[in-house]
Amino acid sequence: MRAVRIGAPGSIAAAEVPDPSPAPGQLLLRVHACGVCRTDLHLLDGEVSIPSPPVIPGHQIVATVLAAPGESAIAPGTRVGVPWLGWTCGECRYCRAGAENLCDRARFTGRDVDGGYAELAVADARFCFPLPDGFEDLAIAPLLCAGLIGFRALRLAGDGERVGLYGFGASAHVIAQVAAAEGRELYAFTRPGDGAGQDFARGLGAVWAGGSDERPSQELDCAIIFAAAGELVPAALAAVRKGGVVVCAGIHMSPIPSFSYDLLWGERVVRSVANLTRGDAREFLPLAARIPVRTTVTRYALADAPQALEDLRHGRFEGAAVIDVAGGG
Ligand SMILES: [Zn+2]
Ligand SMILES: [Zn+2]
Repeated sequence: MRAVRIGAPGSIAAAEVPDPSPAPGQLLLRVHACGVCRTDLHLLDGEVSIPSPPVIPGHQIVATVLAAPGESAIAPGTRVGVPWLGWTCGECRYCRAGAENLCDRARFTGRDVDGGYAELAVADARFCFPLPDGFEDLAIAPLLCAGLIGFRALRLAGDGERVGLYGFGASAHVIAQVAAAEGRELYAFTRPGDGAGQDFARGLGAVWAGGSDERPSQELDCAIIFAAAGELVPAALAAVRKGGVVVCAGIHMSPIPSFSYDLLWGERVVRSVANLTRGDAREFLPLAARIPVRTTVTRYALADAPQALEDLRHGRFEGAAVIDVAGGG
């Protein structure tokens, strides 16, 4: 099959590789589309390590089940999504406590096991989700990480009315719609001077949009940082009220500069959000269908996956990039 693989840091290339074969409990999948996530860029840059390279990245897989050896609740022909969380041990203290996102031995799709920048994939059936109708393949792909992680971050930010989003990319453009549907006020922060990004955010319901170096028109109840820039942590703390929560939603962030304790004082909270649970997906995917969330997608052919990552790096598109594997090219 055709695939795109990441090897040593900085090295990504298309390759012909053997078709994968499913073990019992796994599904063999024909990949239709796979969303591009900033984590894929961190893997390429070596900021998130790959245990045994090369690996096929991609953890927002939209696929049809071709075969399901052994006992599986998901029948061949079903359209499924495959997220970042690919396997958990079920035995560690985190798994037993319902926090499988923190599993000590978790395996992640597109890092520890091959992902969806490929024509075929295999995945543990217990971590695949039948997908709701009403979304095209390309449109639903960004919900599988950008949407899911964003949703988890929004829940951990609490139910405050005024929500700040730092970095208005794939996650923010989904979560803005969820927050708006919940009747919240949205404040969007982009790279300074990114007028197009600020217009995009206003178009999705933001009551205020500006550069990350600006103070919003109102004090925020909570803020979610999707960008990988550590200097946004003190900036967001300065923008939230007493008792407000700042959630760091990325897997990697540049060092956080030191800041005055005054910014944290007043029972402000800084926390990260790590990975997702299957429960998050069971809650979020039906919610996204009900709202309904509409994603803005830029399509790339499989062979153009390296270009998609460079365009993501430089902020060259609004919303999300998706590899259109079934579309050819
Ligand atoms: Zn575990
Ligand atoms: Zn992701």
